[in-house]
Amino acid sequence: MKLKTKIIHSGKDIDEFTGASSIPIYQVSTYAQKDPINLGKYDYGRGDNLTRHAVEQVVANLEGGKAGFAFSSGMSAISSVFLLFKPDDEIIITQDVYGGTYRVLNTIFSNWGLKSKYVDMTDLSNIEKSITEKTKAIFVETPTNPLLKIIDLKSVSEIAKKHNLLTIIDNTFMTPYLQRPLEFGFDIVIHSATKFLGGHSDLIAGVVVVKYDELAIKIKRIQNSFGAILGPMDSFLLHRGIKTLAIRMEAQQKTAFELAKWLKEKKGIKRVYYPLLEDHEGRDIHIKQADGGSAVLSFEFDNFDIAYKFMKSVKIPLLGVSLGGVESILSYPASMSHAAMPKEERLKRGISDSLVRLSVGLEDIDDLKEDIDSALKIALNK
Ligand SMILES: *Cc1c(COP(=O)(O)O)cnc(C)c1O
Repeated sequence: MKLKTKIIHSGKDIDEFTGASSIPIYQVSTYAQKDPINLGKYDYGRGDNLTRHAVEQVVANLEGGKAGFAFSSGMSAISSVFLLFKPDDEIIITQDVYGGTYRVLNTIFSNWGLKSKYVDMTDLSNIEKSITEKTKAIFVETPTNPLLKIIDLKSVSEIAKKHNLLTIIDNTFMTPYLQRPLEFGFDIVIHSATKFLGGHSDLIAGVVVVKYDELAIKIKRIQNSFGAILGPMDSFLLHRGIKTLAIRMEAQQKTAFELAKWLKEKKGIKRVYYPLLEDHEGRDIHIKQADGGSAVLSFEFDNFDIAYKFMKSVKIPLLGVSLGGVESILSYPASMSHAAMPKEERLKRGISDSLVRLSVGLEDIDDLKEDIDSALKIALNK
């Protein structure tokens, strides 16, 4: 099956008991047993819920994994994966990792003795240099947020195999429709399903997909023991959202690419970041490992004053945190995703006070251009 068909038909797309065209919301905590000793397949909702299983299955199929697990948020999915490790273990992490991942590692897991090393993985030799006897895994994000730096998945997994390390990727920005890291040798894929997978800015969810049975057993144990499961209602919403993933990604990334090229020519804008732009660093690697540029772009204004006035004036995009919705979302990394990072450190990484990030939605491109143009005019006092 091709991906577009898989999205609709590869999992449990029909309710096995009634033939219902969507998996109902099994809003239950427990299941009546026929026998007190030999319990049935379903005993308690934390372990098994058919609505959740349906969405877990479809994401696993899309990523080409052995099994999928749905969590109450992207962060609980990421944290549950970190529970695979023990005190004194070390993980090597992409330098520009999602702020929440940085926070949970440095303020929570650090207390338990799990060490994280942040490394610029655009230069692969930095990874090799950081590996010690205690290193257990490499955790990657590509493209990174918000500068969309590209990391070579195949090369990272080759390094990991050489040193017997687990490879984990946060694939939120790309979705399995555009990038399937397991095909490049990765072991675990994580999503904040809050973003493109859900797609409608109406739920918080996370998904973990694993490549092997052995990992499936471990993550299942963590999911059931730690208990950060996705509820039935949100599982239903996520499954429903995923059904339109292909056409949303196609439409949103087409608009994003066009906007990126168009923004490059604008007065007042210094630089545009989008993986498919000719001058984007790592573009060739990205094209090899992904089927598109996705729908997130960042751009830097000439100065903070223009950026601020632009953000205050633009009307169509929602100004706020998050991405991947049907509506365009404009974010300001300095006060949002990277607020926790010391300013000096942030500037050193190229995330200036004049940088904004745009997640492109399903609006008509002409309206978006007109809106951006008029906000730019106000920002430039023209
Ligand atoms: C939003 C996000 C997360 C966290 O997901 P939540 O669903 O908000 O908990 C993790 N990684 C990336 C790349 C994200 O964009």
